[in-house]
Formats: sequence, C-alpha cells, structure tokens
Amino acid sequence: MQLFFILSGIFFIIGLLGFAVTSYIERERHAGHVALLFAAIFAGIWFGSGYVFPTQTLLITCTAWSAVLLGAFILSLPIGKTHPLKIEPSLCERYDERDVIFGRMELGSDTWQYKEYYSNLNPDMKKFDDHLRELPSVGDPGGIHAHPLDSRYFQSVFKYIEKFNHLADPGSPINEPMEITAEEATNRIKGFGKYLGALDVRMTRLKDYHVYTHAGRRLDDWGQKLEPDHKYAIVFSIEMEHEMVHSAPLSPSSTESAVKYMKIADIGICLATYITELGYKARAHIDGNYQVINPALAHDAGIGELGRLGLIITPEHGPRVRLAAVTTDLPLIEDPPVNFGVQHFCQFCKKCAENCPSGSLESGNKKQIRGVFKWQSNMETCYQHWVKLGTDCAICMAVCPYSKPSSFYHSIVRFFSGRNALARRLAFYMDDVFYTKNPRHTRKPEWFSKEQ
Ligand code: SF4
Ligand code: SF4
Repeated sequence: MQLFFILSGIFFIIGLLGFAVTSYIERERHAGHVALLFAAIFAGIWFGSGYVFPTQTLLITCTAWSAVLLGAFILSLPIGKTHPLKIEPSLCERYDERDVIFGRMELGSDTWQYKEYYSNLNPDMKKFDDHLRELPSVGDPGGIHAHPLDSRYFQSVFKYIEKFNHLADPGSPINEPMEITAEEATNRIKGFGKYLGALDVRMTRLKDYHVYTHAGRRLDDWGQKLEPDHKYAIVFSIEMEHEMVHSAPLSPSSTESAVKYMKIADIGICLATYITELGYKARAHIDGNYQVINPALAHDAGIGELGRLGLIITPEHGPRVRLAAVTTDLPLIEDPPVNFGVQHFCQFCKKCAENCPSGSLESGNKKQIRGVFKWQSNMETCYQHWVKLGTDCAICMAVCPYSKPSSFYHSIVRFFSGRNALARRLAFYMDDVFYTKNPRHTRKPEWFSKEQ
C-alpha cells in the first residue's frame, strides 16, 4: 500500500521533471522553471499528505489516479464543435497576383508595368509603395536587425531561388501519357514527395479560386492572364526548424524561411518533372513563381487549417511549415480537408494578433473575404514592418501555441486538443502559464552568429 503511494508520487513527479527537461532542451526556460515549481509543490503536497494521513494513502492514491484517468477519458471524447472554415463557393472570387506586395516591390518606376499598375489598376497604393521602395530592402543596412554577415544567409538563398525558379514549368510532355490508375499515381506521388523530403503530400481538385487571375510576381510574365487549366493540385509541406523559427524576429527565422522555400522548390520541380516524364502536363508553384494560391490549396487538400495569423496550421507543426504545389492533369485521388479545432482555438487564443508589433493581424471576428469567412490580415503593414526590422519578422509564427515541437508532451496536448473543446481551452490557459502571453526567444543558434 505504502509502496503504491510512493511509486505513484514518483511517477507524477518524473512526469513533471520530464516536462521541465524537455522545456530546457527546447530553450523554453520559463516553461522549465514553472514545471520545476509544479514538481516541487506537488512533491510537498503528495508526500506531506502521506505523512499527515498515513492510513489514508491508498485512498489518496486511488483518488489521484481516478482523477487523472477520468480527466484523460473526458478530454479524449469528441466534445464541442470544431467550427470548420466556412467557404461560400458562390461568393468566391479570384485574386490578382499583381496586388501582392512582393510583386509590387519588383516594379521599378521606369518600367511599363509600374505605369500600368499605378495609373490604371491600383493608383491608391502608389504613395505607400513609393515610400517603401525608398527604404532599404529587407536585410540591407538600415533595418533594426540587419547584419552584414547574418542577413547574407537569407539574401543569398533567395537569390539562388531566383536563379532556378523558372524551372517550375518543365514544359509540355514529350511522351504519350502512360497508363496509370489514379490510385497508383496518388501512391507514387505521395511516396516520392515524402522521399524527396516533404512532410505531408496531399491532393485536391483545382478550382477557379485557387488560381490567380494574372501573374504579378516577375516582370517577364507580369500581367499574363492565368486560367485553371489543370485538373488537380498536389500540395506539400516541409517543416521549419523550431530553434530557427523561435529566434524571431532575428535573422535565423528569415534564413530558415528562405532555406525551406529552396528545399520545397526542389521537391516541386522534381515532382513536376517526373509527372511530365510520365506524359502528363504538370507545373510546380514555388517561391517567386506561383500561379496558384498555396494556402487555399493546402486548406482544401487537408494539409492543415487556416489560422488567425493567415497561415496554414498543420496538425504536427502548426504554422511552422512552408508550402508548395504542383498542378497537373495526372489522374489523382482527392484528399478531404481536415478539422482539428483550429478555428475554435483561434477564436479565444489571439496570441499572434496580440504579439504582432505592427498590428497587422485581426484580433476581432472573422470577415467574409472573397467568399471565405476568415480573419483579415494586412500584408502592407506587415511588410512595412519587415523593412523596418530588416528580417521577415515571423513573431506571429513563433508565438503560436501550435508551433511547438512534436515532442512527447506537445503531442499529448495535440491529441486531446484536436478532439475536445474543453482540452483546447485548457491547453490555451496552460500555454499562458508555461510559456507566458508574450513569449520571446530572440536567441540565435551558436553557429549562426557570434553575437547573441
Ligand atoms: S510577420 Fe510580424 S508584422 Fe507580420 S503579421 Fe506576423 S507578427 Fe505581424
Ligand atoms: S497564435 Fe493563437 S490565434 Fe494565432 S494562429 Fe496561433 S492558435 Fe490561432
């Protein structure tokens, strides 16, 4: 009887100490300190109660285990609505890539595209954009965190992507289409994509609203009219390293972003080339050379859910991923969207919006935007803040509770919060207790920079 009491106490304390150690490994010092404090308080209460009530240890032990097991059972029940993202197909409108800020910043004032855009398409943005163009580019001297050695990491990777992103379109197939069933094609593409390094590979049918109306990112095809001329889209994700992302808003997070855009572009080009070799039309959509809206595809294919911060939140790594896609005529089997409670969690969480230094994220309710009921974000003020910082900020991604690493403890929380509304509330409150309302890490990995 005594032994059961002692072993149970040790078991619970080891659980808390394990969480403390995991937190220190993840460089979450606050969470580690809180877990140690909880372990000490628990040890005091547990063994103190055994000392005060030595004849009641069996009752105490059974009550504690019953509470833990009953709690786990209740939290595992599919209770509460998960509020899937509401899309009204009749209101869905296509979006013009020429309105995306990254493309607008490419328009030099001496180009015909500049005149066309600010004279005919969007004169209202001219003053704002001209002002941004006068400021240093992200990473160049002048930004708060710009650094002559550190910023070159991500600047050089983005330059490298620019050199090869024209390979996204492997051209028309030379061979006749090979006979292949949708099932086999799907299995092969998923397997090959994962072998190439993708975390998840899923398929959806290409819809009008997935495709931009006009190309707007590169001067050479700027203004080209785009049509959804493929039947399917293959969407894939790649994980971003937790340590790098959690240095946000310092340049390791920007470097991680650039490197993962580069790696996922490789995957996209290989998949598109493979499909073309099979005799089917295919095109990759990678950084700097998109024709489709990858988050919309990723939602519909079930890579994840759209969060308040405007990024896709995946079940395993939250928003800590990069996305790319391949559109094709290869017959494929569609995957359904997923729903693990993100819409519900984001309703009360708001951590990204409350920590956004430029106020670019909505902390209120969703709005209907081109047929999708979602939280609005302001890409202009966000980008303006990037310029000010000299990095791509990424604080919203770093503070999101779903960004935690996939360690044992976080996987348990993910399991329960994906199923149960009460567990989501509990996870949110515990996130504040362990990680605070304003988590900041701002520490560069040792190899990255000598300055810390
Ligand atoms: S990247 Fe930074 S500025 Fe932009 S929305 Fe996220 S937190 Fe706000
Ligand atoms: S920080 Fe919170 S509100 Fe923002 S996307 Fe993540 S879960 Fe949603």
